[in-house]
Amino acid sequence: MADAVPEAPIVWPKLEPIRTGIAGRCPRCGEGRLFAGLLTLAKGCDQCGLSYDFADPADGPAFFVICFGCVPAVVFALMLEIWWSASWLTQLLVTGPVLLATCLAPLRPLKGWLVCSQYFFKAGEGRINRPWKPYGANGPTVMPGPSRRAEGDHGDHGGAAARRGTR
Ligand SMILES: [Zn+2]
Repeated sequence: MADAVPEAPIVWPKLEPIRTGIAGRCPRCGEGRLFAGLLTLAKGCDQCGLSYDFADPADGPAFFVICFGCVPAVVFALMLEIWWSASWLTQLLVTGPVLLATCLAPLRPLKGWLVCSQYFFKAGEGRINRPWKPYGANGPTVMPGPSRRAEGDHGDHGGAAARRGTR
């Protein structure tokens, strides 16, 4: 009886985004490469075929680096100046590498982590999945589905329909 079970779809393991992201690996299979360059995302996974089109970390990595990397590095440079009156050469030789290490080094793992988290938590733009009456019970109904603009309507259809509906 158990032999009659049809071929099951592939079930991917739930991989923690922190591990796959920092390692720069595919969020679905954990094997393929996430990056095609230093910070450039690949088009998709070369192992399981997952497209990385969903990935949009935007300014996320830069925000985290600014908050937790750049600010402490600048505070470090200021303390060096205030406490030890460090020379320009000391600032260049000590603060320069500290700035590079705290600002550039975390960008790639942070971007990987954010992209893998997007996949893991299925983060994306909100979508309407049922008929919706945004202008009240007598107003027009917005149906779920592809964007109205994708259907060739480039005007203010929603507003015009709302005005017609209220008259
Ligand atoms: Zn993969």
